Order: sequence, then structure tokens, then C-alpha cells
Amino acid sequence: MDFALSEAQQRWHDAAVRFAREELSDDLPGRDERREFWREGWRRCARFGVQGLPIPAELGGQGQGLPETIAAMEGLAYGCPDNGLLFAINASMWTNAIPILRYGTEPQKRRYLPGLCDGSLVGANGASETEAGSDIFSMTTSAERQGDHWKLNGRKTWVTSGPVADLFVCYATTDPSRGVLGLSAFIIPKDTPGFRVVREIKKLGVRTVPMGEIAFEDCRVPLENLLGREGRGADVFNCSMEWERGAIPACALGTMRRQLERCVEHARTRKQFGKPIGKFQSVANKIVDMRLRLETSRPLVYK
Ligand SMILES: Cc1cc2nc3c(=O)[nH]c(=O)nc-3n(C[C@H](O)[C@H](O)[C@H](O)COP(=O)(O)OP(=O)(O)OC[C@H]3O[C@@H](n4cnc5c(N)ncnc54)[C@H](O)[C@@H]3O)c2cc1C
Repeated sequence: MDFALSEAQQRWHDAAVRFAREELSDDLPGRDERREFWREGWRRCARFGVQGLPIPAELGGQGQGLPETIAAMEGLAYGCPDNGLLFAINASMWTNAIPILRYGTEPQKRRYLPGLCDGSLVGANGASETEAGSDIFSMTTSAERQGDHWKLNGRKTWVTSGPVADLFVCYATTDPSRGVLGLSAFIIPKDTPGFRVVREIKKLGVRTVPMGEIAFEDCRVPLENLLGREGRGADVFNCSMEWERGAIPACALGTMRRQLERCVEHARTRKQFGKPIGKFQSVANKIVDMRLRLETSRPLVYK
């Protein structure tokens, strides 16, 4: 079977590698130490077209299909070791822009998608709560219709990019008696009255993307910011998770390839006991295992 990339996919992949190597390597150890989100890197990615890859051109994106998008994301991670920046981009694309593209009204799409593509907006996703993790649809954040707005109350946690994001797609229950069919999705800009970032959650890894806890305190969300139909928030959430779970591994592929190449280089050049350490079988075996994982993962991700 032929697993080769098409010409267009290869072009996106190679262009992303070149772009990442040339423009995304500034002071990563320093930013990692300072736990710093790199806005300039975010903007550079947007100028290249990363955030808008799967978004139609008329809404500010590149209008690419999923395989081209995946190829570009693989190339991006192969060239860019800043896994925090890549994680933030993935969160924004799959859990914010894509649900808006898929479920948004025309005015919602025109209002938010160009900014998510051109780098002026960082998107985030607020679903998890302290007591609702794997059991996500047991969330208790509530949304009550009041005149011309929804009143939201509750807290969301583990929000990737939470402390720096401009736009949130969040989930709340509009009818607790209906369980999963009582959930709805909302688009919430960070300056919405009653919305605030409670705290940053410090992590041991992926430190160049901040994570946060956010709160809605009688938060007034305009009625037109309901995303999708009332009571169909689970569909919006499932759509975002399907894209996220399918697409984030593209970056993992690029990262695995970069790390494999570094390890091979090190095993060839580092000498102990008078020979390159790659000549020792236990080191060589590890490298073979890495290669095997990469080779078997790629067709899975593209499939
Ligand atoms: C890096 C990172 C970024 C994140 N970003 C976001 C974000 O942007 N927005 C957001 O809303 N959330 C985010 N999350 C939260 C994430 O979605 C939750 O961590 C996830 O849903 C799991 O919930 P939990 O951590 O509470 O684990 P729990 O649900 O408490 O699970 C603990 C363990 O129990 C296991 N378990 C649970 N239920 C079952 C079961 N029925 N059968 C067998 N095993 C089970 C789990 O597999 C796990 O091993 C992020 C998490 C991480 C780690």
C-alpha cells in the first residue's frame, strides 16, 4: 500500500517545517523557564496560515482539507520544539474555531473566525469542572435565560490557554432535569461581564501554554452567543473532541520524528568505552522501538 503524501500535502508539510525552523525557535528554554505564552509566535503561525488551515478562505482561513491540515501540523511540530505553543494552537483550532465553523450562525462565523485565523484571537474551551472530568456531561455550570441574555454561574477548570485566551467556547446546563439533553454551548469573549480568570494552574510540563480556572458569576452572555441549538451542547462538544483527538496526534508525529533524529545523531556521535553508544545493543534497541512507533503511528493518524 502507498502511504505517501500527495503533492499538496507534501508541499504544506515541507513549507511548515521551513517556517517553523526559521521563525519559531526564539528562546524556548527562557520562555519555558518563565512559563511564558509567546504571542509573537502565535502571530507568526497565523501569518503562515496555521490557525486557519481548515477554515474556508471567505472566513479568513486557508480552506485546506483535513489531510493537508494534518500534514502541515506534522511538519510544524517536526520543525518547532515549543510543544506549549503547538498545544495552544491545537486547543484553539479544534475546540473553538471548528465548533464555531460547524455550529455557528453566519454572523457568529463572520464575527469570530477571521480573528481566530489571523492571530488576533486566542481561542479556548471550558468544559471540565472539578467534579466533571471523564464524566463530562455531569457538569453543573448553569445557564438561565433572562430577557436578552443568558445568566451563567459556575466554574471551569484545566482550561488550556485560559489565562491568555480572548474567546471561550463553554458548556453549561440550561435544563438540569434533561441531563445531557439539557446542555448548551456558548461563545464567551473574555470581556463579558461576570466572566473572570480565577487563577493560573501551574504545570510540570508543556509550560509555554498557561492553563487556568475560569468563573462565571452572574455572567451576562447575549442570547445570540448560544452556539448551536439549545440542549444540543453535547453535539458541539463531541464534534470538538472528535477533531481534537484526531488532529493533535499529527503534532505528536512531527515531535516523534524530530526526537528520533536527535537520538540517532547523539547515538552516532557520543562515544563511551571507545565507541559510539549506538553500537551498544541496548541503545540500538531503544532507537529501533522509537522508529517502529513512529512508522506504525503515521498511517493510523492519517487514516
Ligand atoms: C494537558 C491538559 C489540557 C487540558 N485542557 C482542557 C481544556 O482546554 N478544557 C477543558 O475543559 N478541559 C481540559 N482538560 C481536562 C481534561 O479534559 C480532563 O483531564 C479529562 O476529561 C479527564 O478528567 P479528570 O482529569 O478529572 O480525570 P478523572 O475523570 O477523574 O479520571 C481519573 C482516572 O480514572 C479513569 N476513569 C474515569 N472514569 C472511568 C471509567 N468509567 N472507566 C474506566 N476508567 C475511568 C480515567 O481514565 C483516569 O485514568 C485538560 C487536561 C489536560 C491534562
